[in-house]
Amino acid sequence: MTEAKKSGLVVVAHTGDFVWRAGGAIALFAKKGWHMKIVCLSFGERGESAKMWREPGATMEKVKAGRIKEAEKAANILGGDIEFFDLGDYPLRVKDDAFFRLVDVFRKVKPQFLLTHSREDPYNFDHPRASAIAQEARVIAQAHGHNPGEPVLGAPPVYLFEPHQPEQCNWKPQMILDISEVFDIKRRAFECLEAQEYLWEYYTRVALNRGVQGARNSERKTMKYGEAYERVFPSVGDEFV
Ligand SMILES: [Zn+2]
Repeated sequence: MTEAKKSGLVVVAHTGDFVWRAGGAIALFAKKGWHMKIVCLSFGERGESAKMWREPGATMEKVKAGRIKEAEKAANILGGDIEFFDLGDYPLRVKDDAFFRLVDVFRKVKPQFLLTHSREDPYNFDHPRASAIAQEARVIAQAHGHNPGEPVLGAPPVYLFEPHQPEQCNWKPQMILDISEVFDIKRRAFECLEAQEYLWEYYTRVALNRGVQGARNSERKTMKYGEAYERVFPSVGDEFV
């Protein structure tokens, strides 16, 4: 990989999250030649693997191994570079060593943008915790006094991907990414997540709805599939787009 290659960073609580919520962005930018780094803070082994736990003889090791395999396969299809922190889920707890490991990822990857969870989610406390940790790690990576001498991070914009029930999470779509050209890739990545098969059709419908809304809010009249994001910071430029 060359130093000049552009990159994006995706930080999620559980392995499935990057596929449902940001799989289109990962596939789209990977297709453009970007380095798309995915950090999974846990495997979702306790809270998001119900189907695997129903299998006879299921153990924590077997469930984790199953989820790693699925996530690696999905990341490979999307063109992402995945890293697992294995911090445990339900509840997700992030100690300082893991936090500073994430700060190091920001400084190493130097992302042009960060994609992470919404700030609220009354159904899932791991999601907002992952979002807070990712956003805080970004800010520490910007601090000149943190590991002085290392190049500091710039100001990559932060986009919060769509939670499962947006209206319950005080989340609004402020950016709809046109993922029509990569939706088939995203769908193939869904299909790696056998533990959550019940969500395949659900997230296909979400993408279709966002696609219709994207076409309505733009000149992209042939847009079919979309992926929505909320911005944390104002957009900056010398024109209105
Ligand atoms: Zn999750």
